[in-house]
Amino acid sequence: MTAATTPLPNATILGYPRIGRRRELKRAVESYWKGATSEAELRATAAELRTATRARLVELGLPALGGAVPESFSFYDQVLDATLALGAIPHRFADVAAREGASDLDVYFALARGDENHQPLEMTKWFDTNYHYSVPEIDERTPFAANAAALVEQVAEARAQGVDSRPVLVGPVTYLLLAKASDEAGGGFKPIDRLDEVVAVYAELLSALAAAGAAWVQLDEPALISDSLPTTRDETLALVERAYRELGSAAERPAILLTAPYGDSSRVLARLGALPAEAVQADLVRGALPEGSLADGSLARAFEGTQLVAGVVDGRNIWRTDLRTAFARVEELQRAGIAAVVGTSNNLQHVPHDVADESKLDARLKSWLAFADQKVEQAVVLARGLAEGAAAIEDELAASERVLADRAAAPGVRVDAIRARTAAVGGADRSRVSEGERREAQRSLGIPQLATTTIGSFPQTGEIRRARAAFTRGEIDRQAYDGFLREEIERVIRLQEEIGLDILVHGEAERNDMVQYFAEHLDGFAVTEHGWVQSYGTRATRPSILWGDVSRPAPITVEWSAYAQSLTDRIVKGMLTGPVTILAWSFVRDDQPLADTAAQVALALRDEIDDLVDAGIRIVQVDEPALRELLPLDADRQAAYLDWSVGAFRLATGGASPEVQIHTHLCYSEFGEIIDAVDGLDADVTSIEAARSRMDVVEPLGEHGYSRGIGPGVYDIHSPRVPSVEEQAELIRIAASRIPGEQLWVNPDCGLKTRGYEETVASLTNLVRAARTVRESA
Ligand code: GLN
Ligand code: ZN
Repeated sequence: MTAATTPLPNATILGYPRIGRRRELKRAVESYWKGATSEAELRATAAELRTATRARLVELGLPALGGAVPESFSFYDQVLDATLALGAIPHRFADVAAREGASDLDVYFALARGDENHQPLEMTKWFDTNYHYSVPEIDERTPFAANAAALVEQVAEARAQGVDSRPVLVGPVTYLLLAKASDEAGGGFKPIDRLDEVVAVYAELLSALAAAGAAWVQLDEPALISDSLPTTRDETLALVERAYRELGSAAERPAILLTAPYGDSSRVLARLGALPAEAVQADLVRGALPEGSLADGSLARAFEGTQLVAGVVDGRNIWRTDLRTAFARVEELQRAGIAAVVGTSNNLQHVPHDVADESKLDARLKSWLAFADQKVEQAVVLARGLAEGAAAIEDELAASERVLADRAAAPGVRVDAIRARTAAVGGADRSRVSEGERREAQRSLGIPQLATTTIGSFPQTGEIRRARAAFTRGEIDRQAYDGFLREEIERVIRLQEEIGLDILVHGEAERNDMVQYFAEHLDGFAVTEHGWVQSYGTRATRPSILWGDVSRPAPITVEWSAYAQSLTDRIVKGMLTGPVTILAWSFVRDDQPLADTAAQVALALRDEIDDLVDAGIRIVQVDEPALRELLPLDADRQAAYLDWSVGAFRLATGGASPEVQIHTHLCYSEFGEIIDAVDGLDADVTSIEAARSRMDVVEPLGEHGYSRGIGPGVYDIHSPRVPSVEEQAELIRIAASRIPGEQLWVNPDCGLKTRGYEETVASLTNLVRAARTVRESA
């Protein structure tokens, strides 16, 4: 440690939600985008939010001094923040940056959102979370120049408030490994090739922070735990070592906290401890310590002079920590001679603000929960135990035990009948008759070649939202609301008939969200009022809480699908969200394997499919857009995941008789990694995103010998642009050149809920014409 370094206090967190308790940042940013407020006003709101956050963290018990309070504010995205801090503005945005009077913030939002002349930066998932970041575009000529203004401003703001805060930045290795080569890059160029230059810029940023008075800086390197990057883990480790030796040797810098969140760093932890970072964080919820490394003293040797931030408080879920177990773990570190600091497994940006804000949640359930504020309090309690001894926190440890016992014993958490049912599940429940037999049986459906359909939702108009809000507020009664939905369904059915689609949908007007809708109708789930979590930019979702054993008290979608089917001679698809996606987009219980929870959800959906079929539905689509999202970053864990997730889908759909056609929808297009699993779902028809990649995904499917139905999207629904007949026909032809035409379906990339009616009708009309054109020319 450099002489001037003061050690980190006993507790810290890696970051705090930045959207504001009531999503104040969303409103402020969106109002600025609309031109309703000025940049100065937006900046003032942001400063207020940051100030309130620091004050709150100190109030919750994080020491104001010594770098325990992280600066994790972002106007939009932390990776985009790093792009600006590095001055790594892609060439294609150079004109925006050069524009007369353009501020940093104008450039920032242009990168995030694009404008008339610029496509925005791509967005993609941040590790295995549901958060999406703006992908940096780097090539041989991308400029790098330190821009520490935003970071320095925050340090100064904090100091004025009496808080010695710790700036947080995505680390150089992770930054470059998450970047993509720009379109202008030469063949073979990889962003990570520019590591040394980028590290030099980080060194400048650190020196500016030191000059501003920051004692600590946090550099996040989750790349260390991932097998889903362009480098192997050994290569990543070597790059991190190179980068941090260099950064460590910088003359003027704050002490460095190097973090490895979102997974298991046990394979690399000892090597990280030996680097010139003053503190290293390990995620001890998802990961472990290197085996035997406490007993043999090796970890203590590696961490001599380095603090270990033990991420024992889970930053990915909303449950109270088992404090006694967590405390035993940090105490054990301390006994082994390691300078342990209590920390969170990751940035708390993935959990909502405060359980206390929930006034409608069941009190008992509430007592089991910990959102960000409660997690901070828990870290603080553990730290007090470290400082003063276990006796000092015995009350809290005992209370934590009582909470866990209460949760384990509460009605609904374990329901014998549900458990007996999952225990009785056998292999046969997960298999339908052979694909060939099903194809034969499904001939009776009379589905034409290149059948046209949509993915499920039709535009969610202002009228639909208003009707739902009025119903939720009790301004209209159930009967009036149902009447409204029926009219909406009828309109959507007639529209699809007019457009000439082959297989129809009811349009999903009754659903606020494809997961929450099911959560609201299943036992074992609760929904929150203010439990918002940022998904990207100003967008946030409110994940449901899956707290107990899951069952279906009554049919959920049957009434709507049956009504839609009663209106038309064409086939109407039933529409369900799959078990994996329901889990992925909820906060799930942590007291049993996900596989067990998934099986319960699967059985509830299985009953729903039964009821749909009894009501005359002949095709059922079970959406699994999150199948790939939950894929563990750790290659060793992927097979087990795919096994239970595919198993859950098959359990949900395995009861359908051969003449019932099961569809699934997967949303994204990158599924090279999981192609066997997609095959393993055994769905009769799978729709996927393909328009933007111009059918790239069909090729590997063809090579794989994929023999089921496949609907590669021919219409990119992410933009209001109307694709022409010729354009869509061309995509169908490309697909047909890569996979036999009998297998092909024609559909958009995804649901239409975010689109407007005008463009939807025009695009679908063209889609139907395109399918006809190709059929006729075949
Ligand atoms: N059926 C859903 C819809 O059409 C699927 C949405 C999704 O894939 N995310 O909206
Ligand atoms: Zn989709």
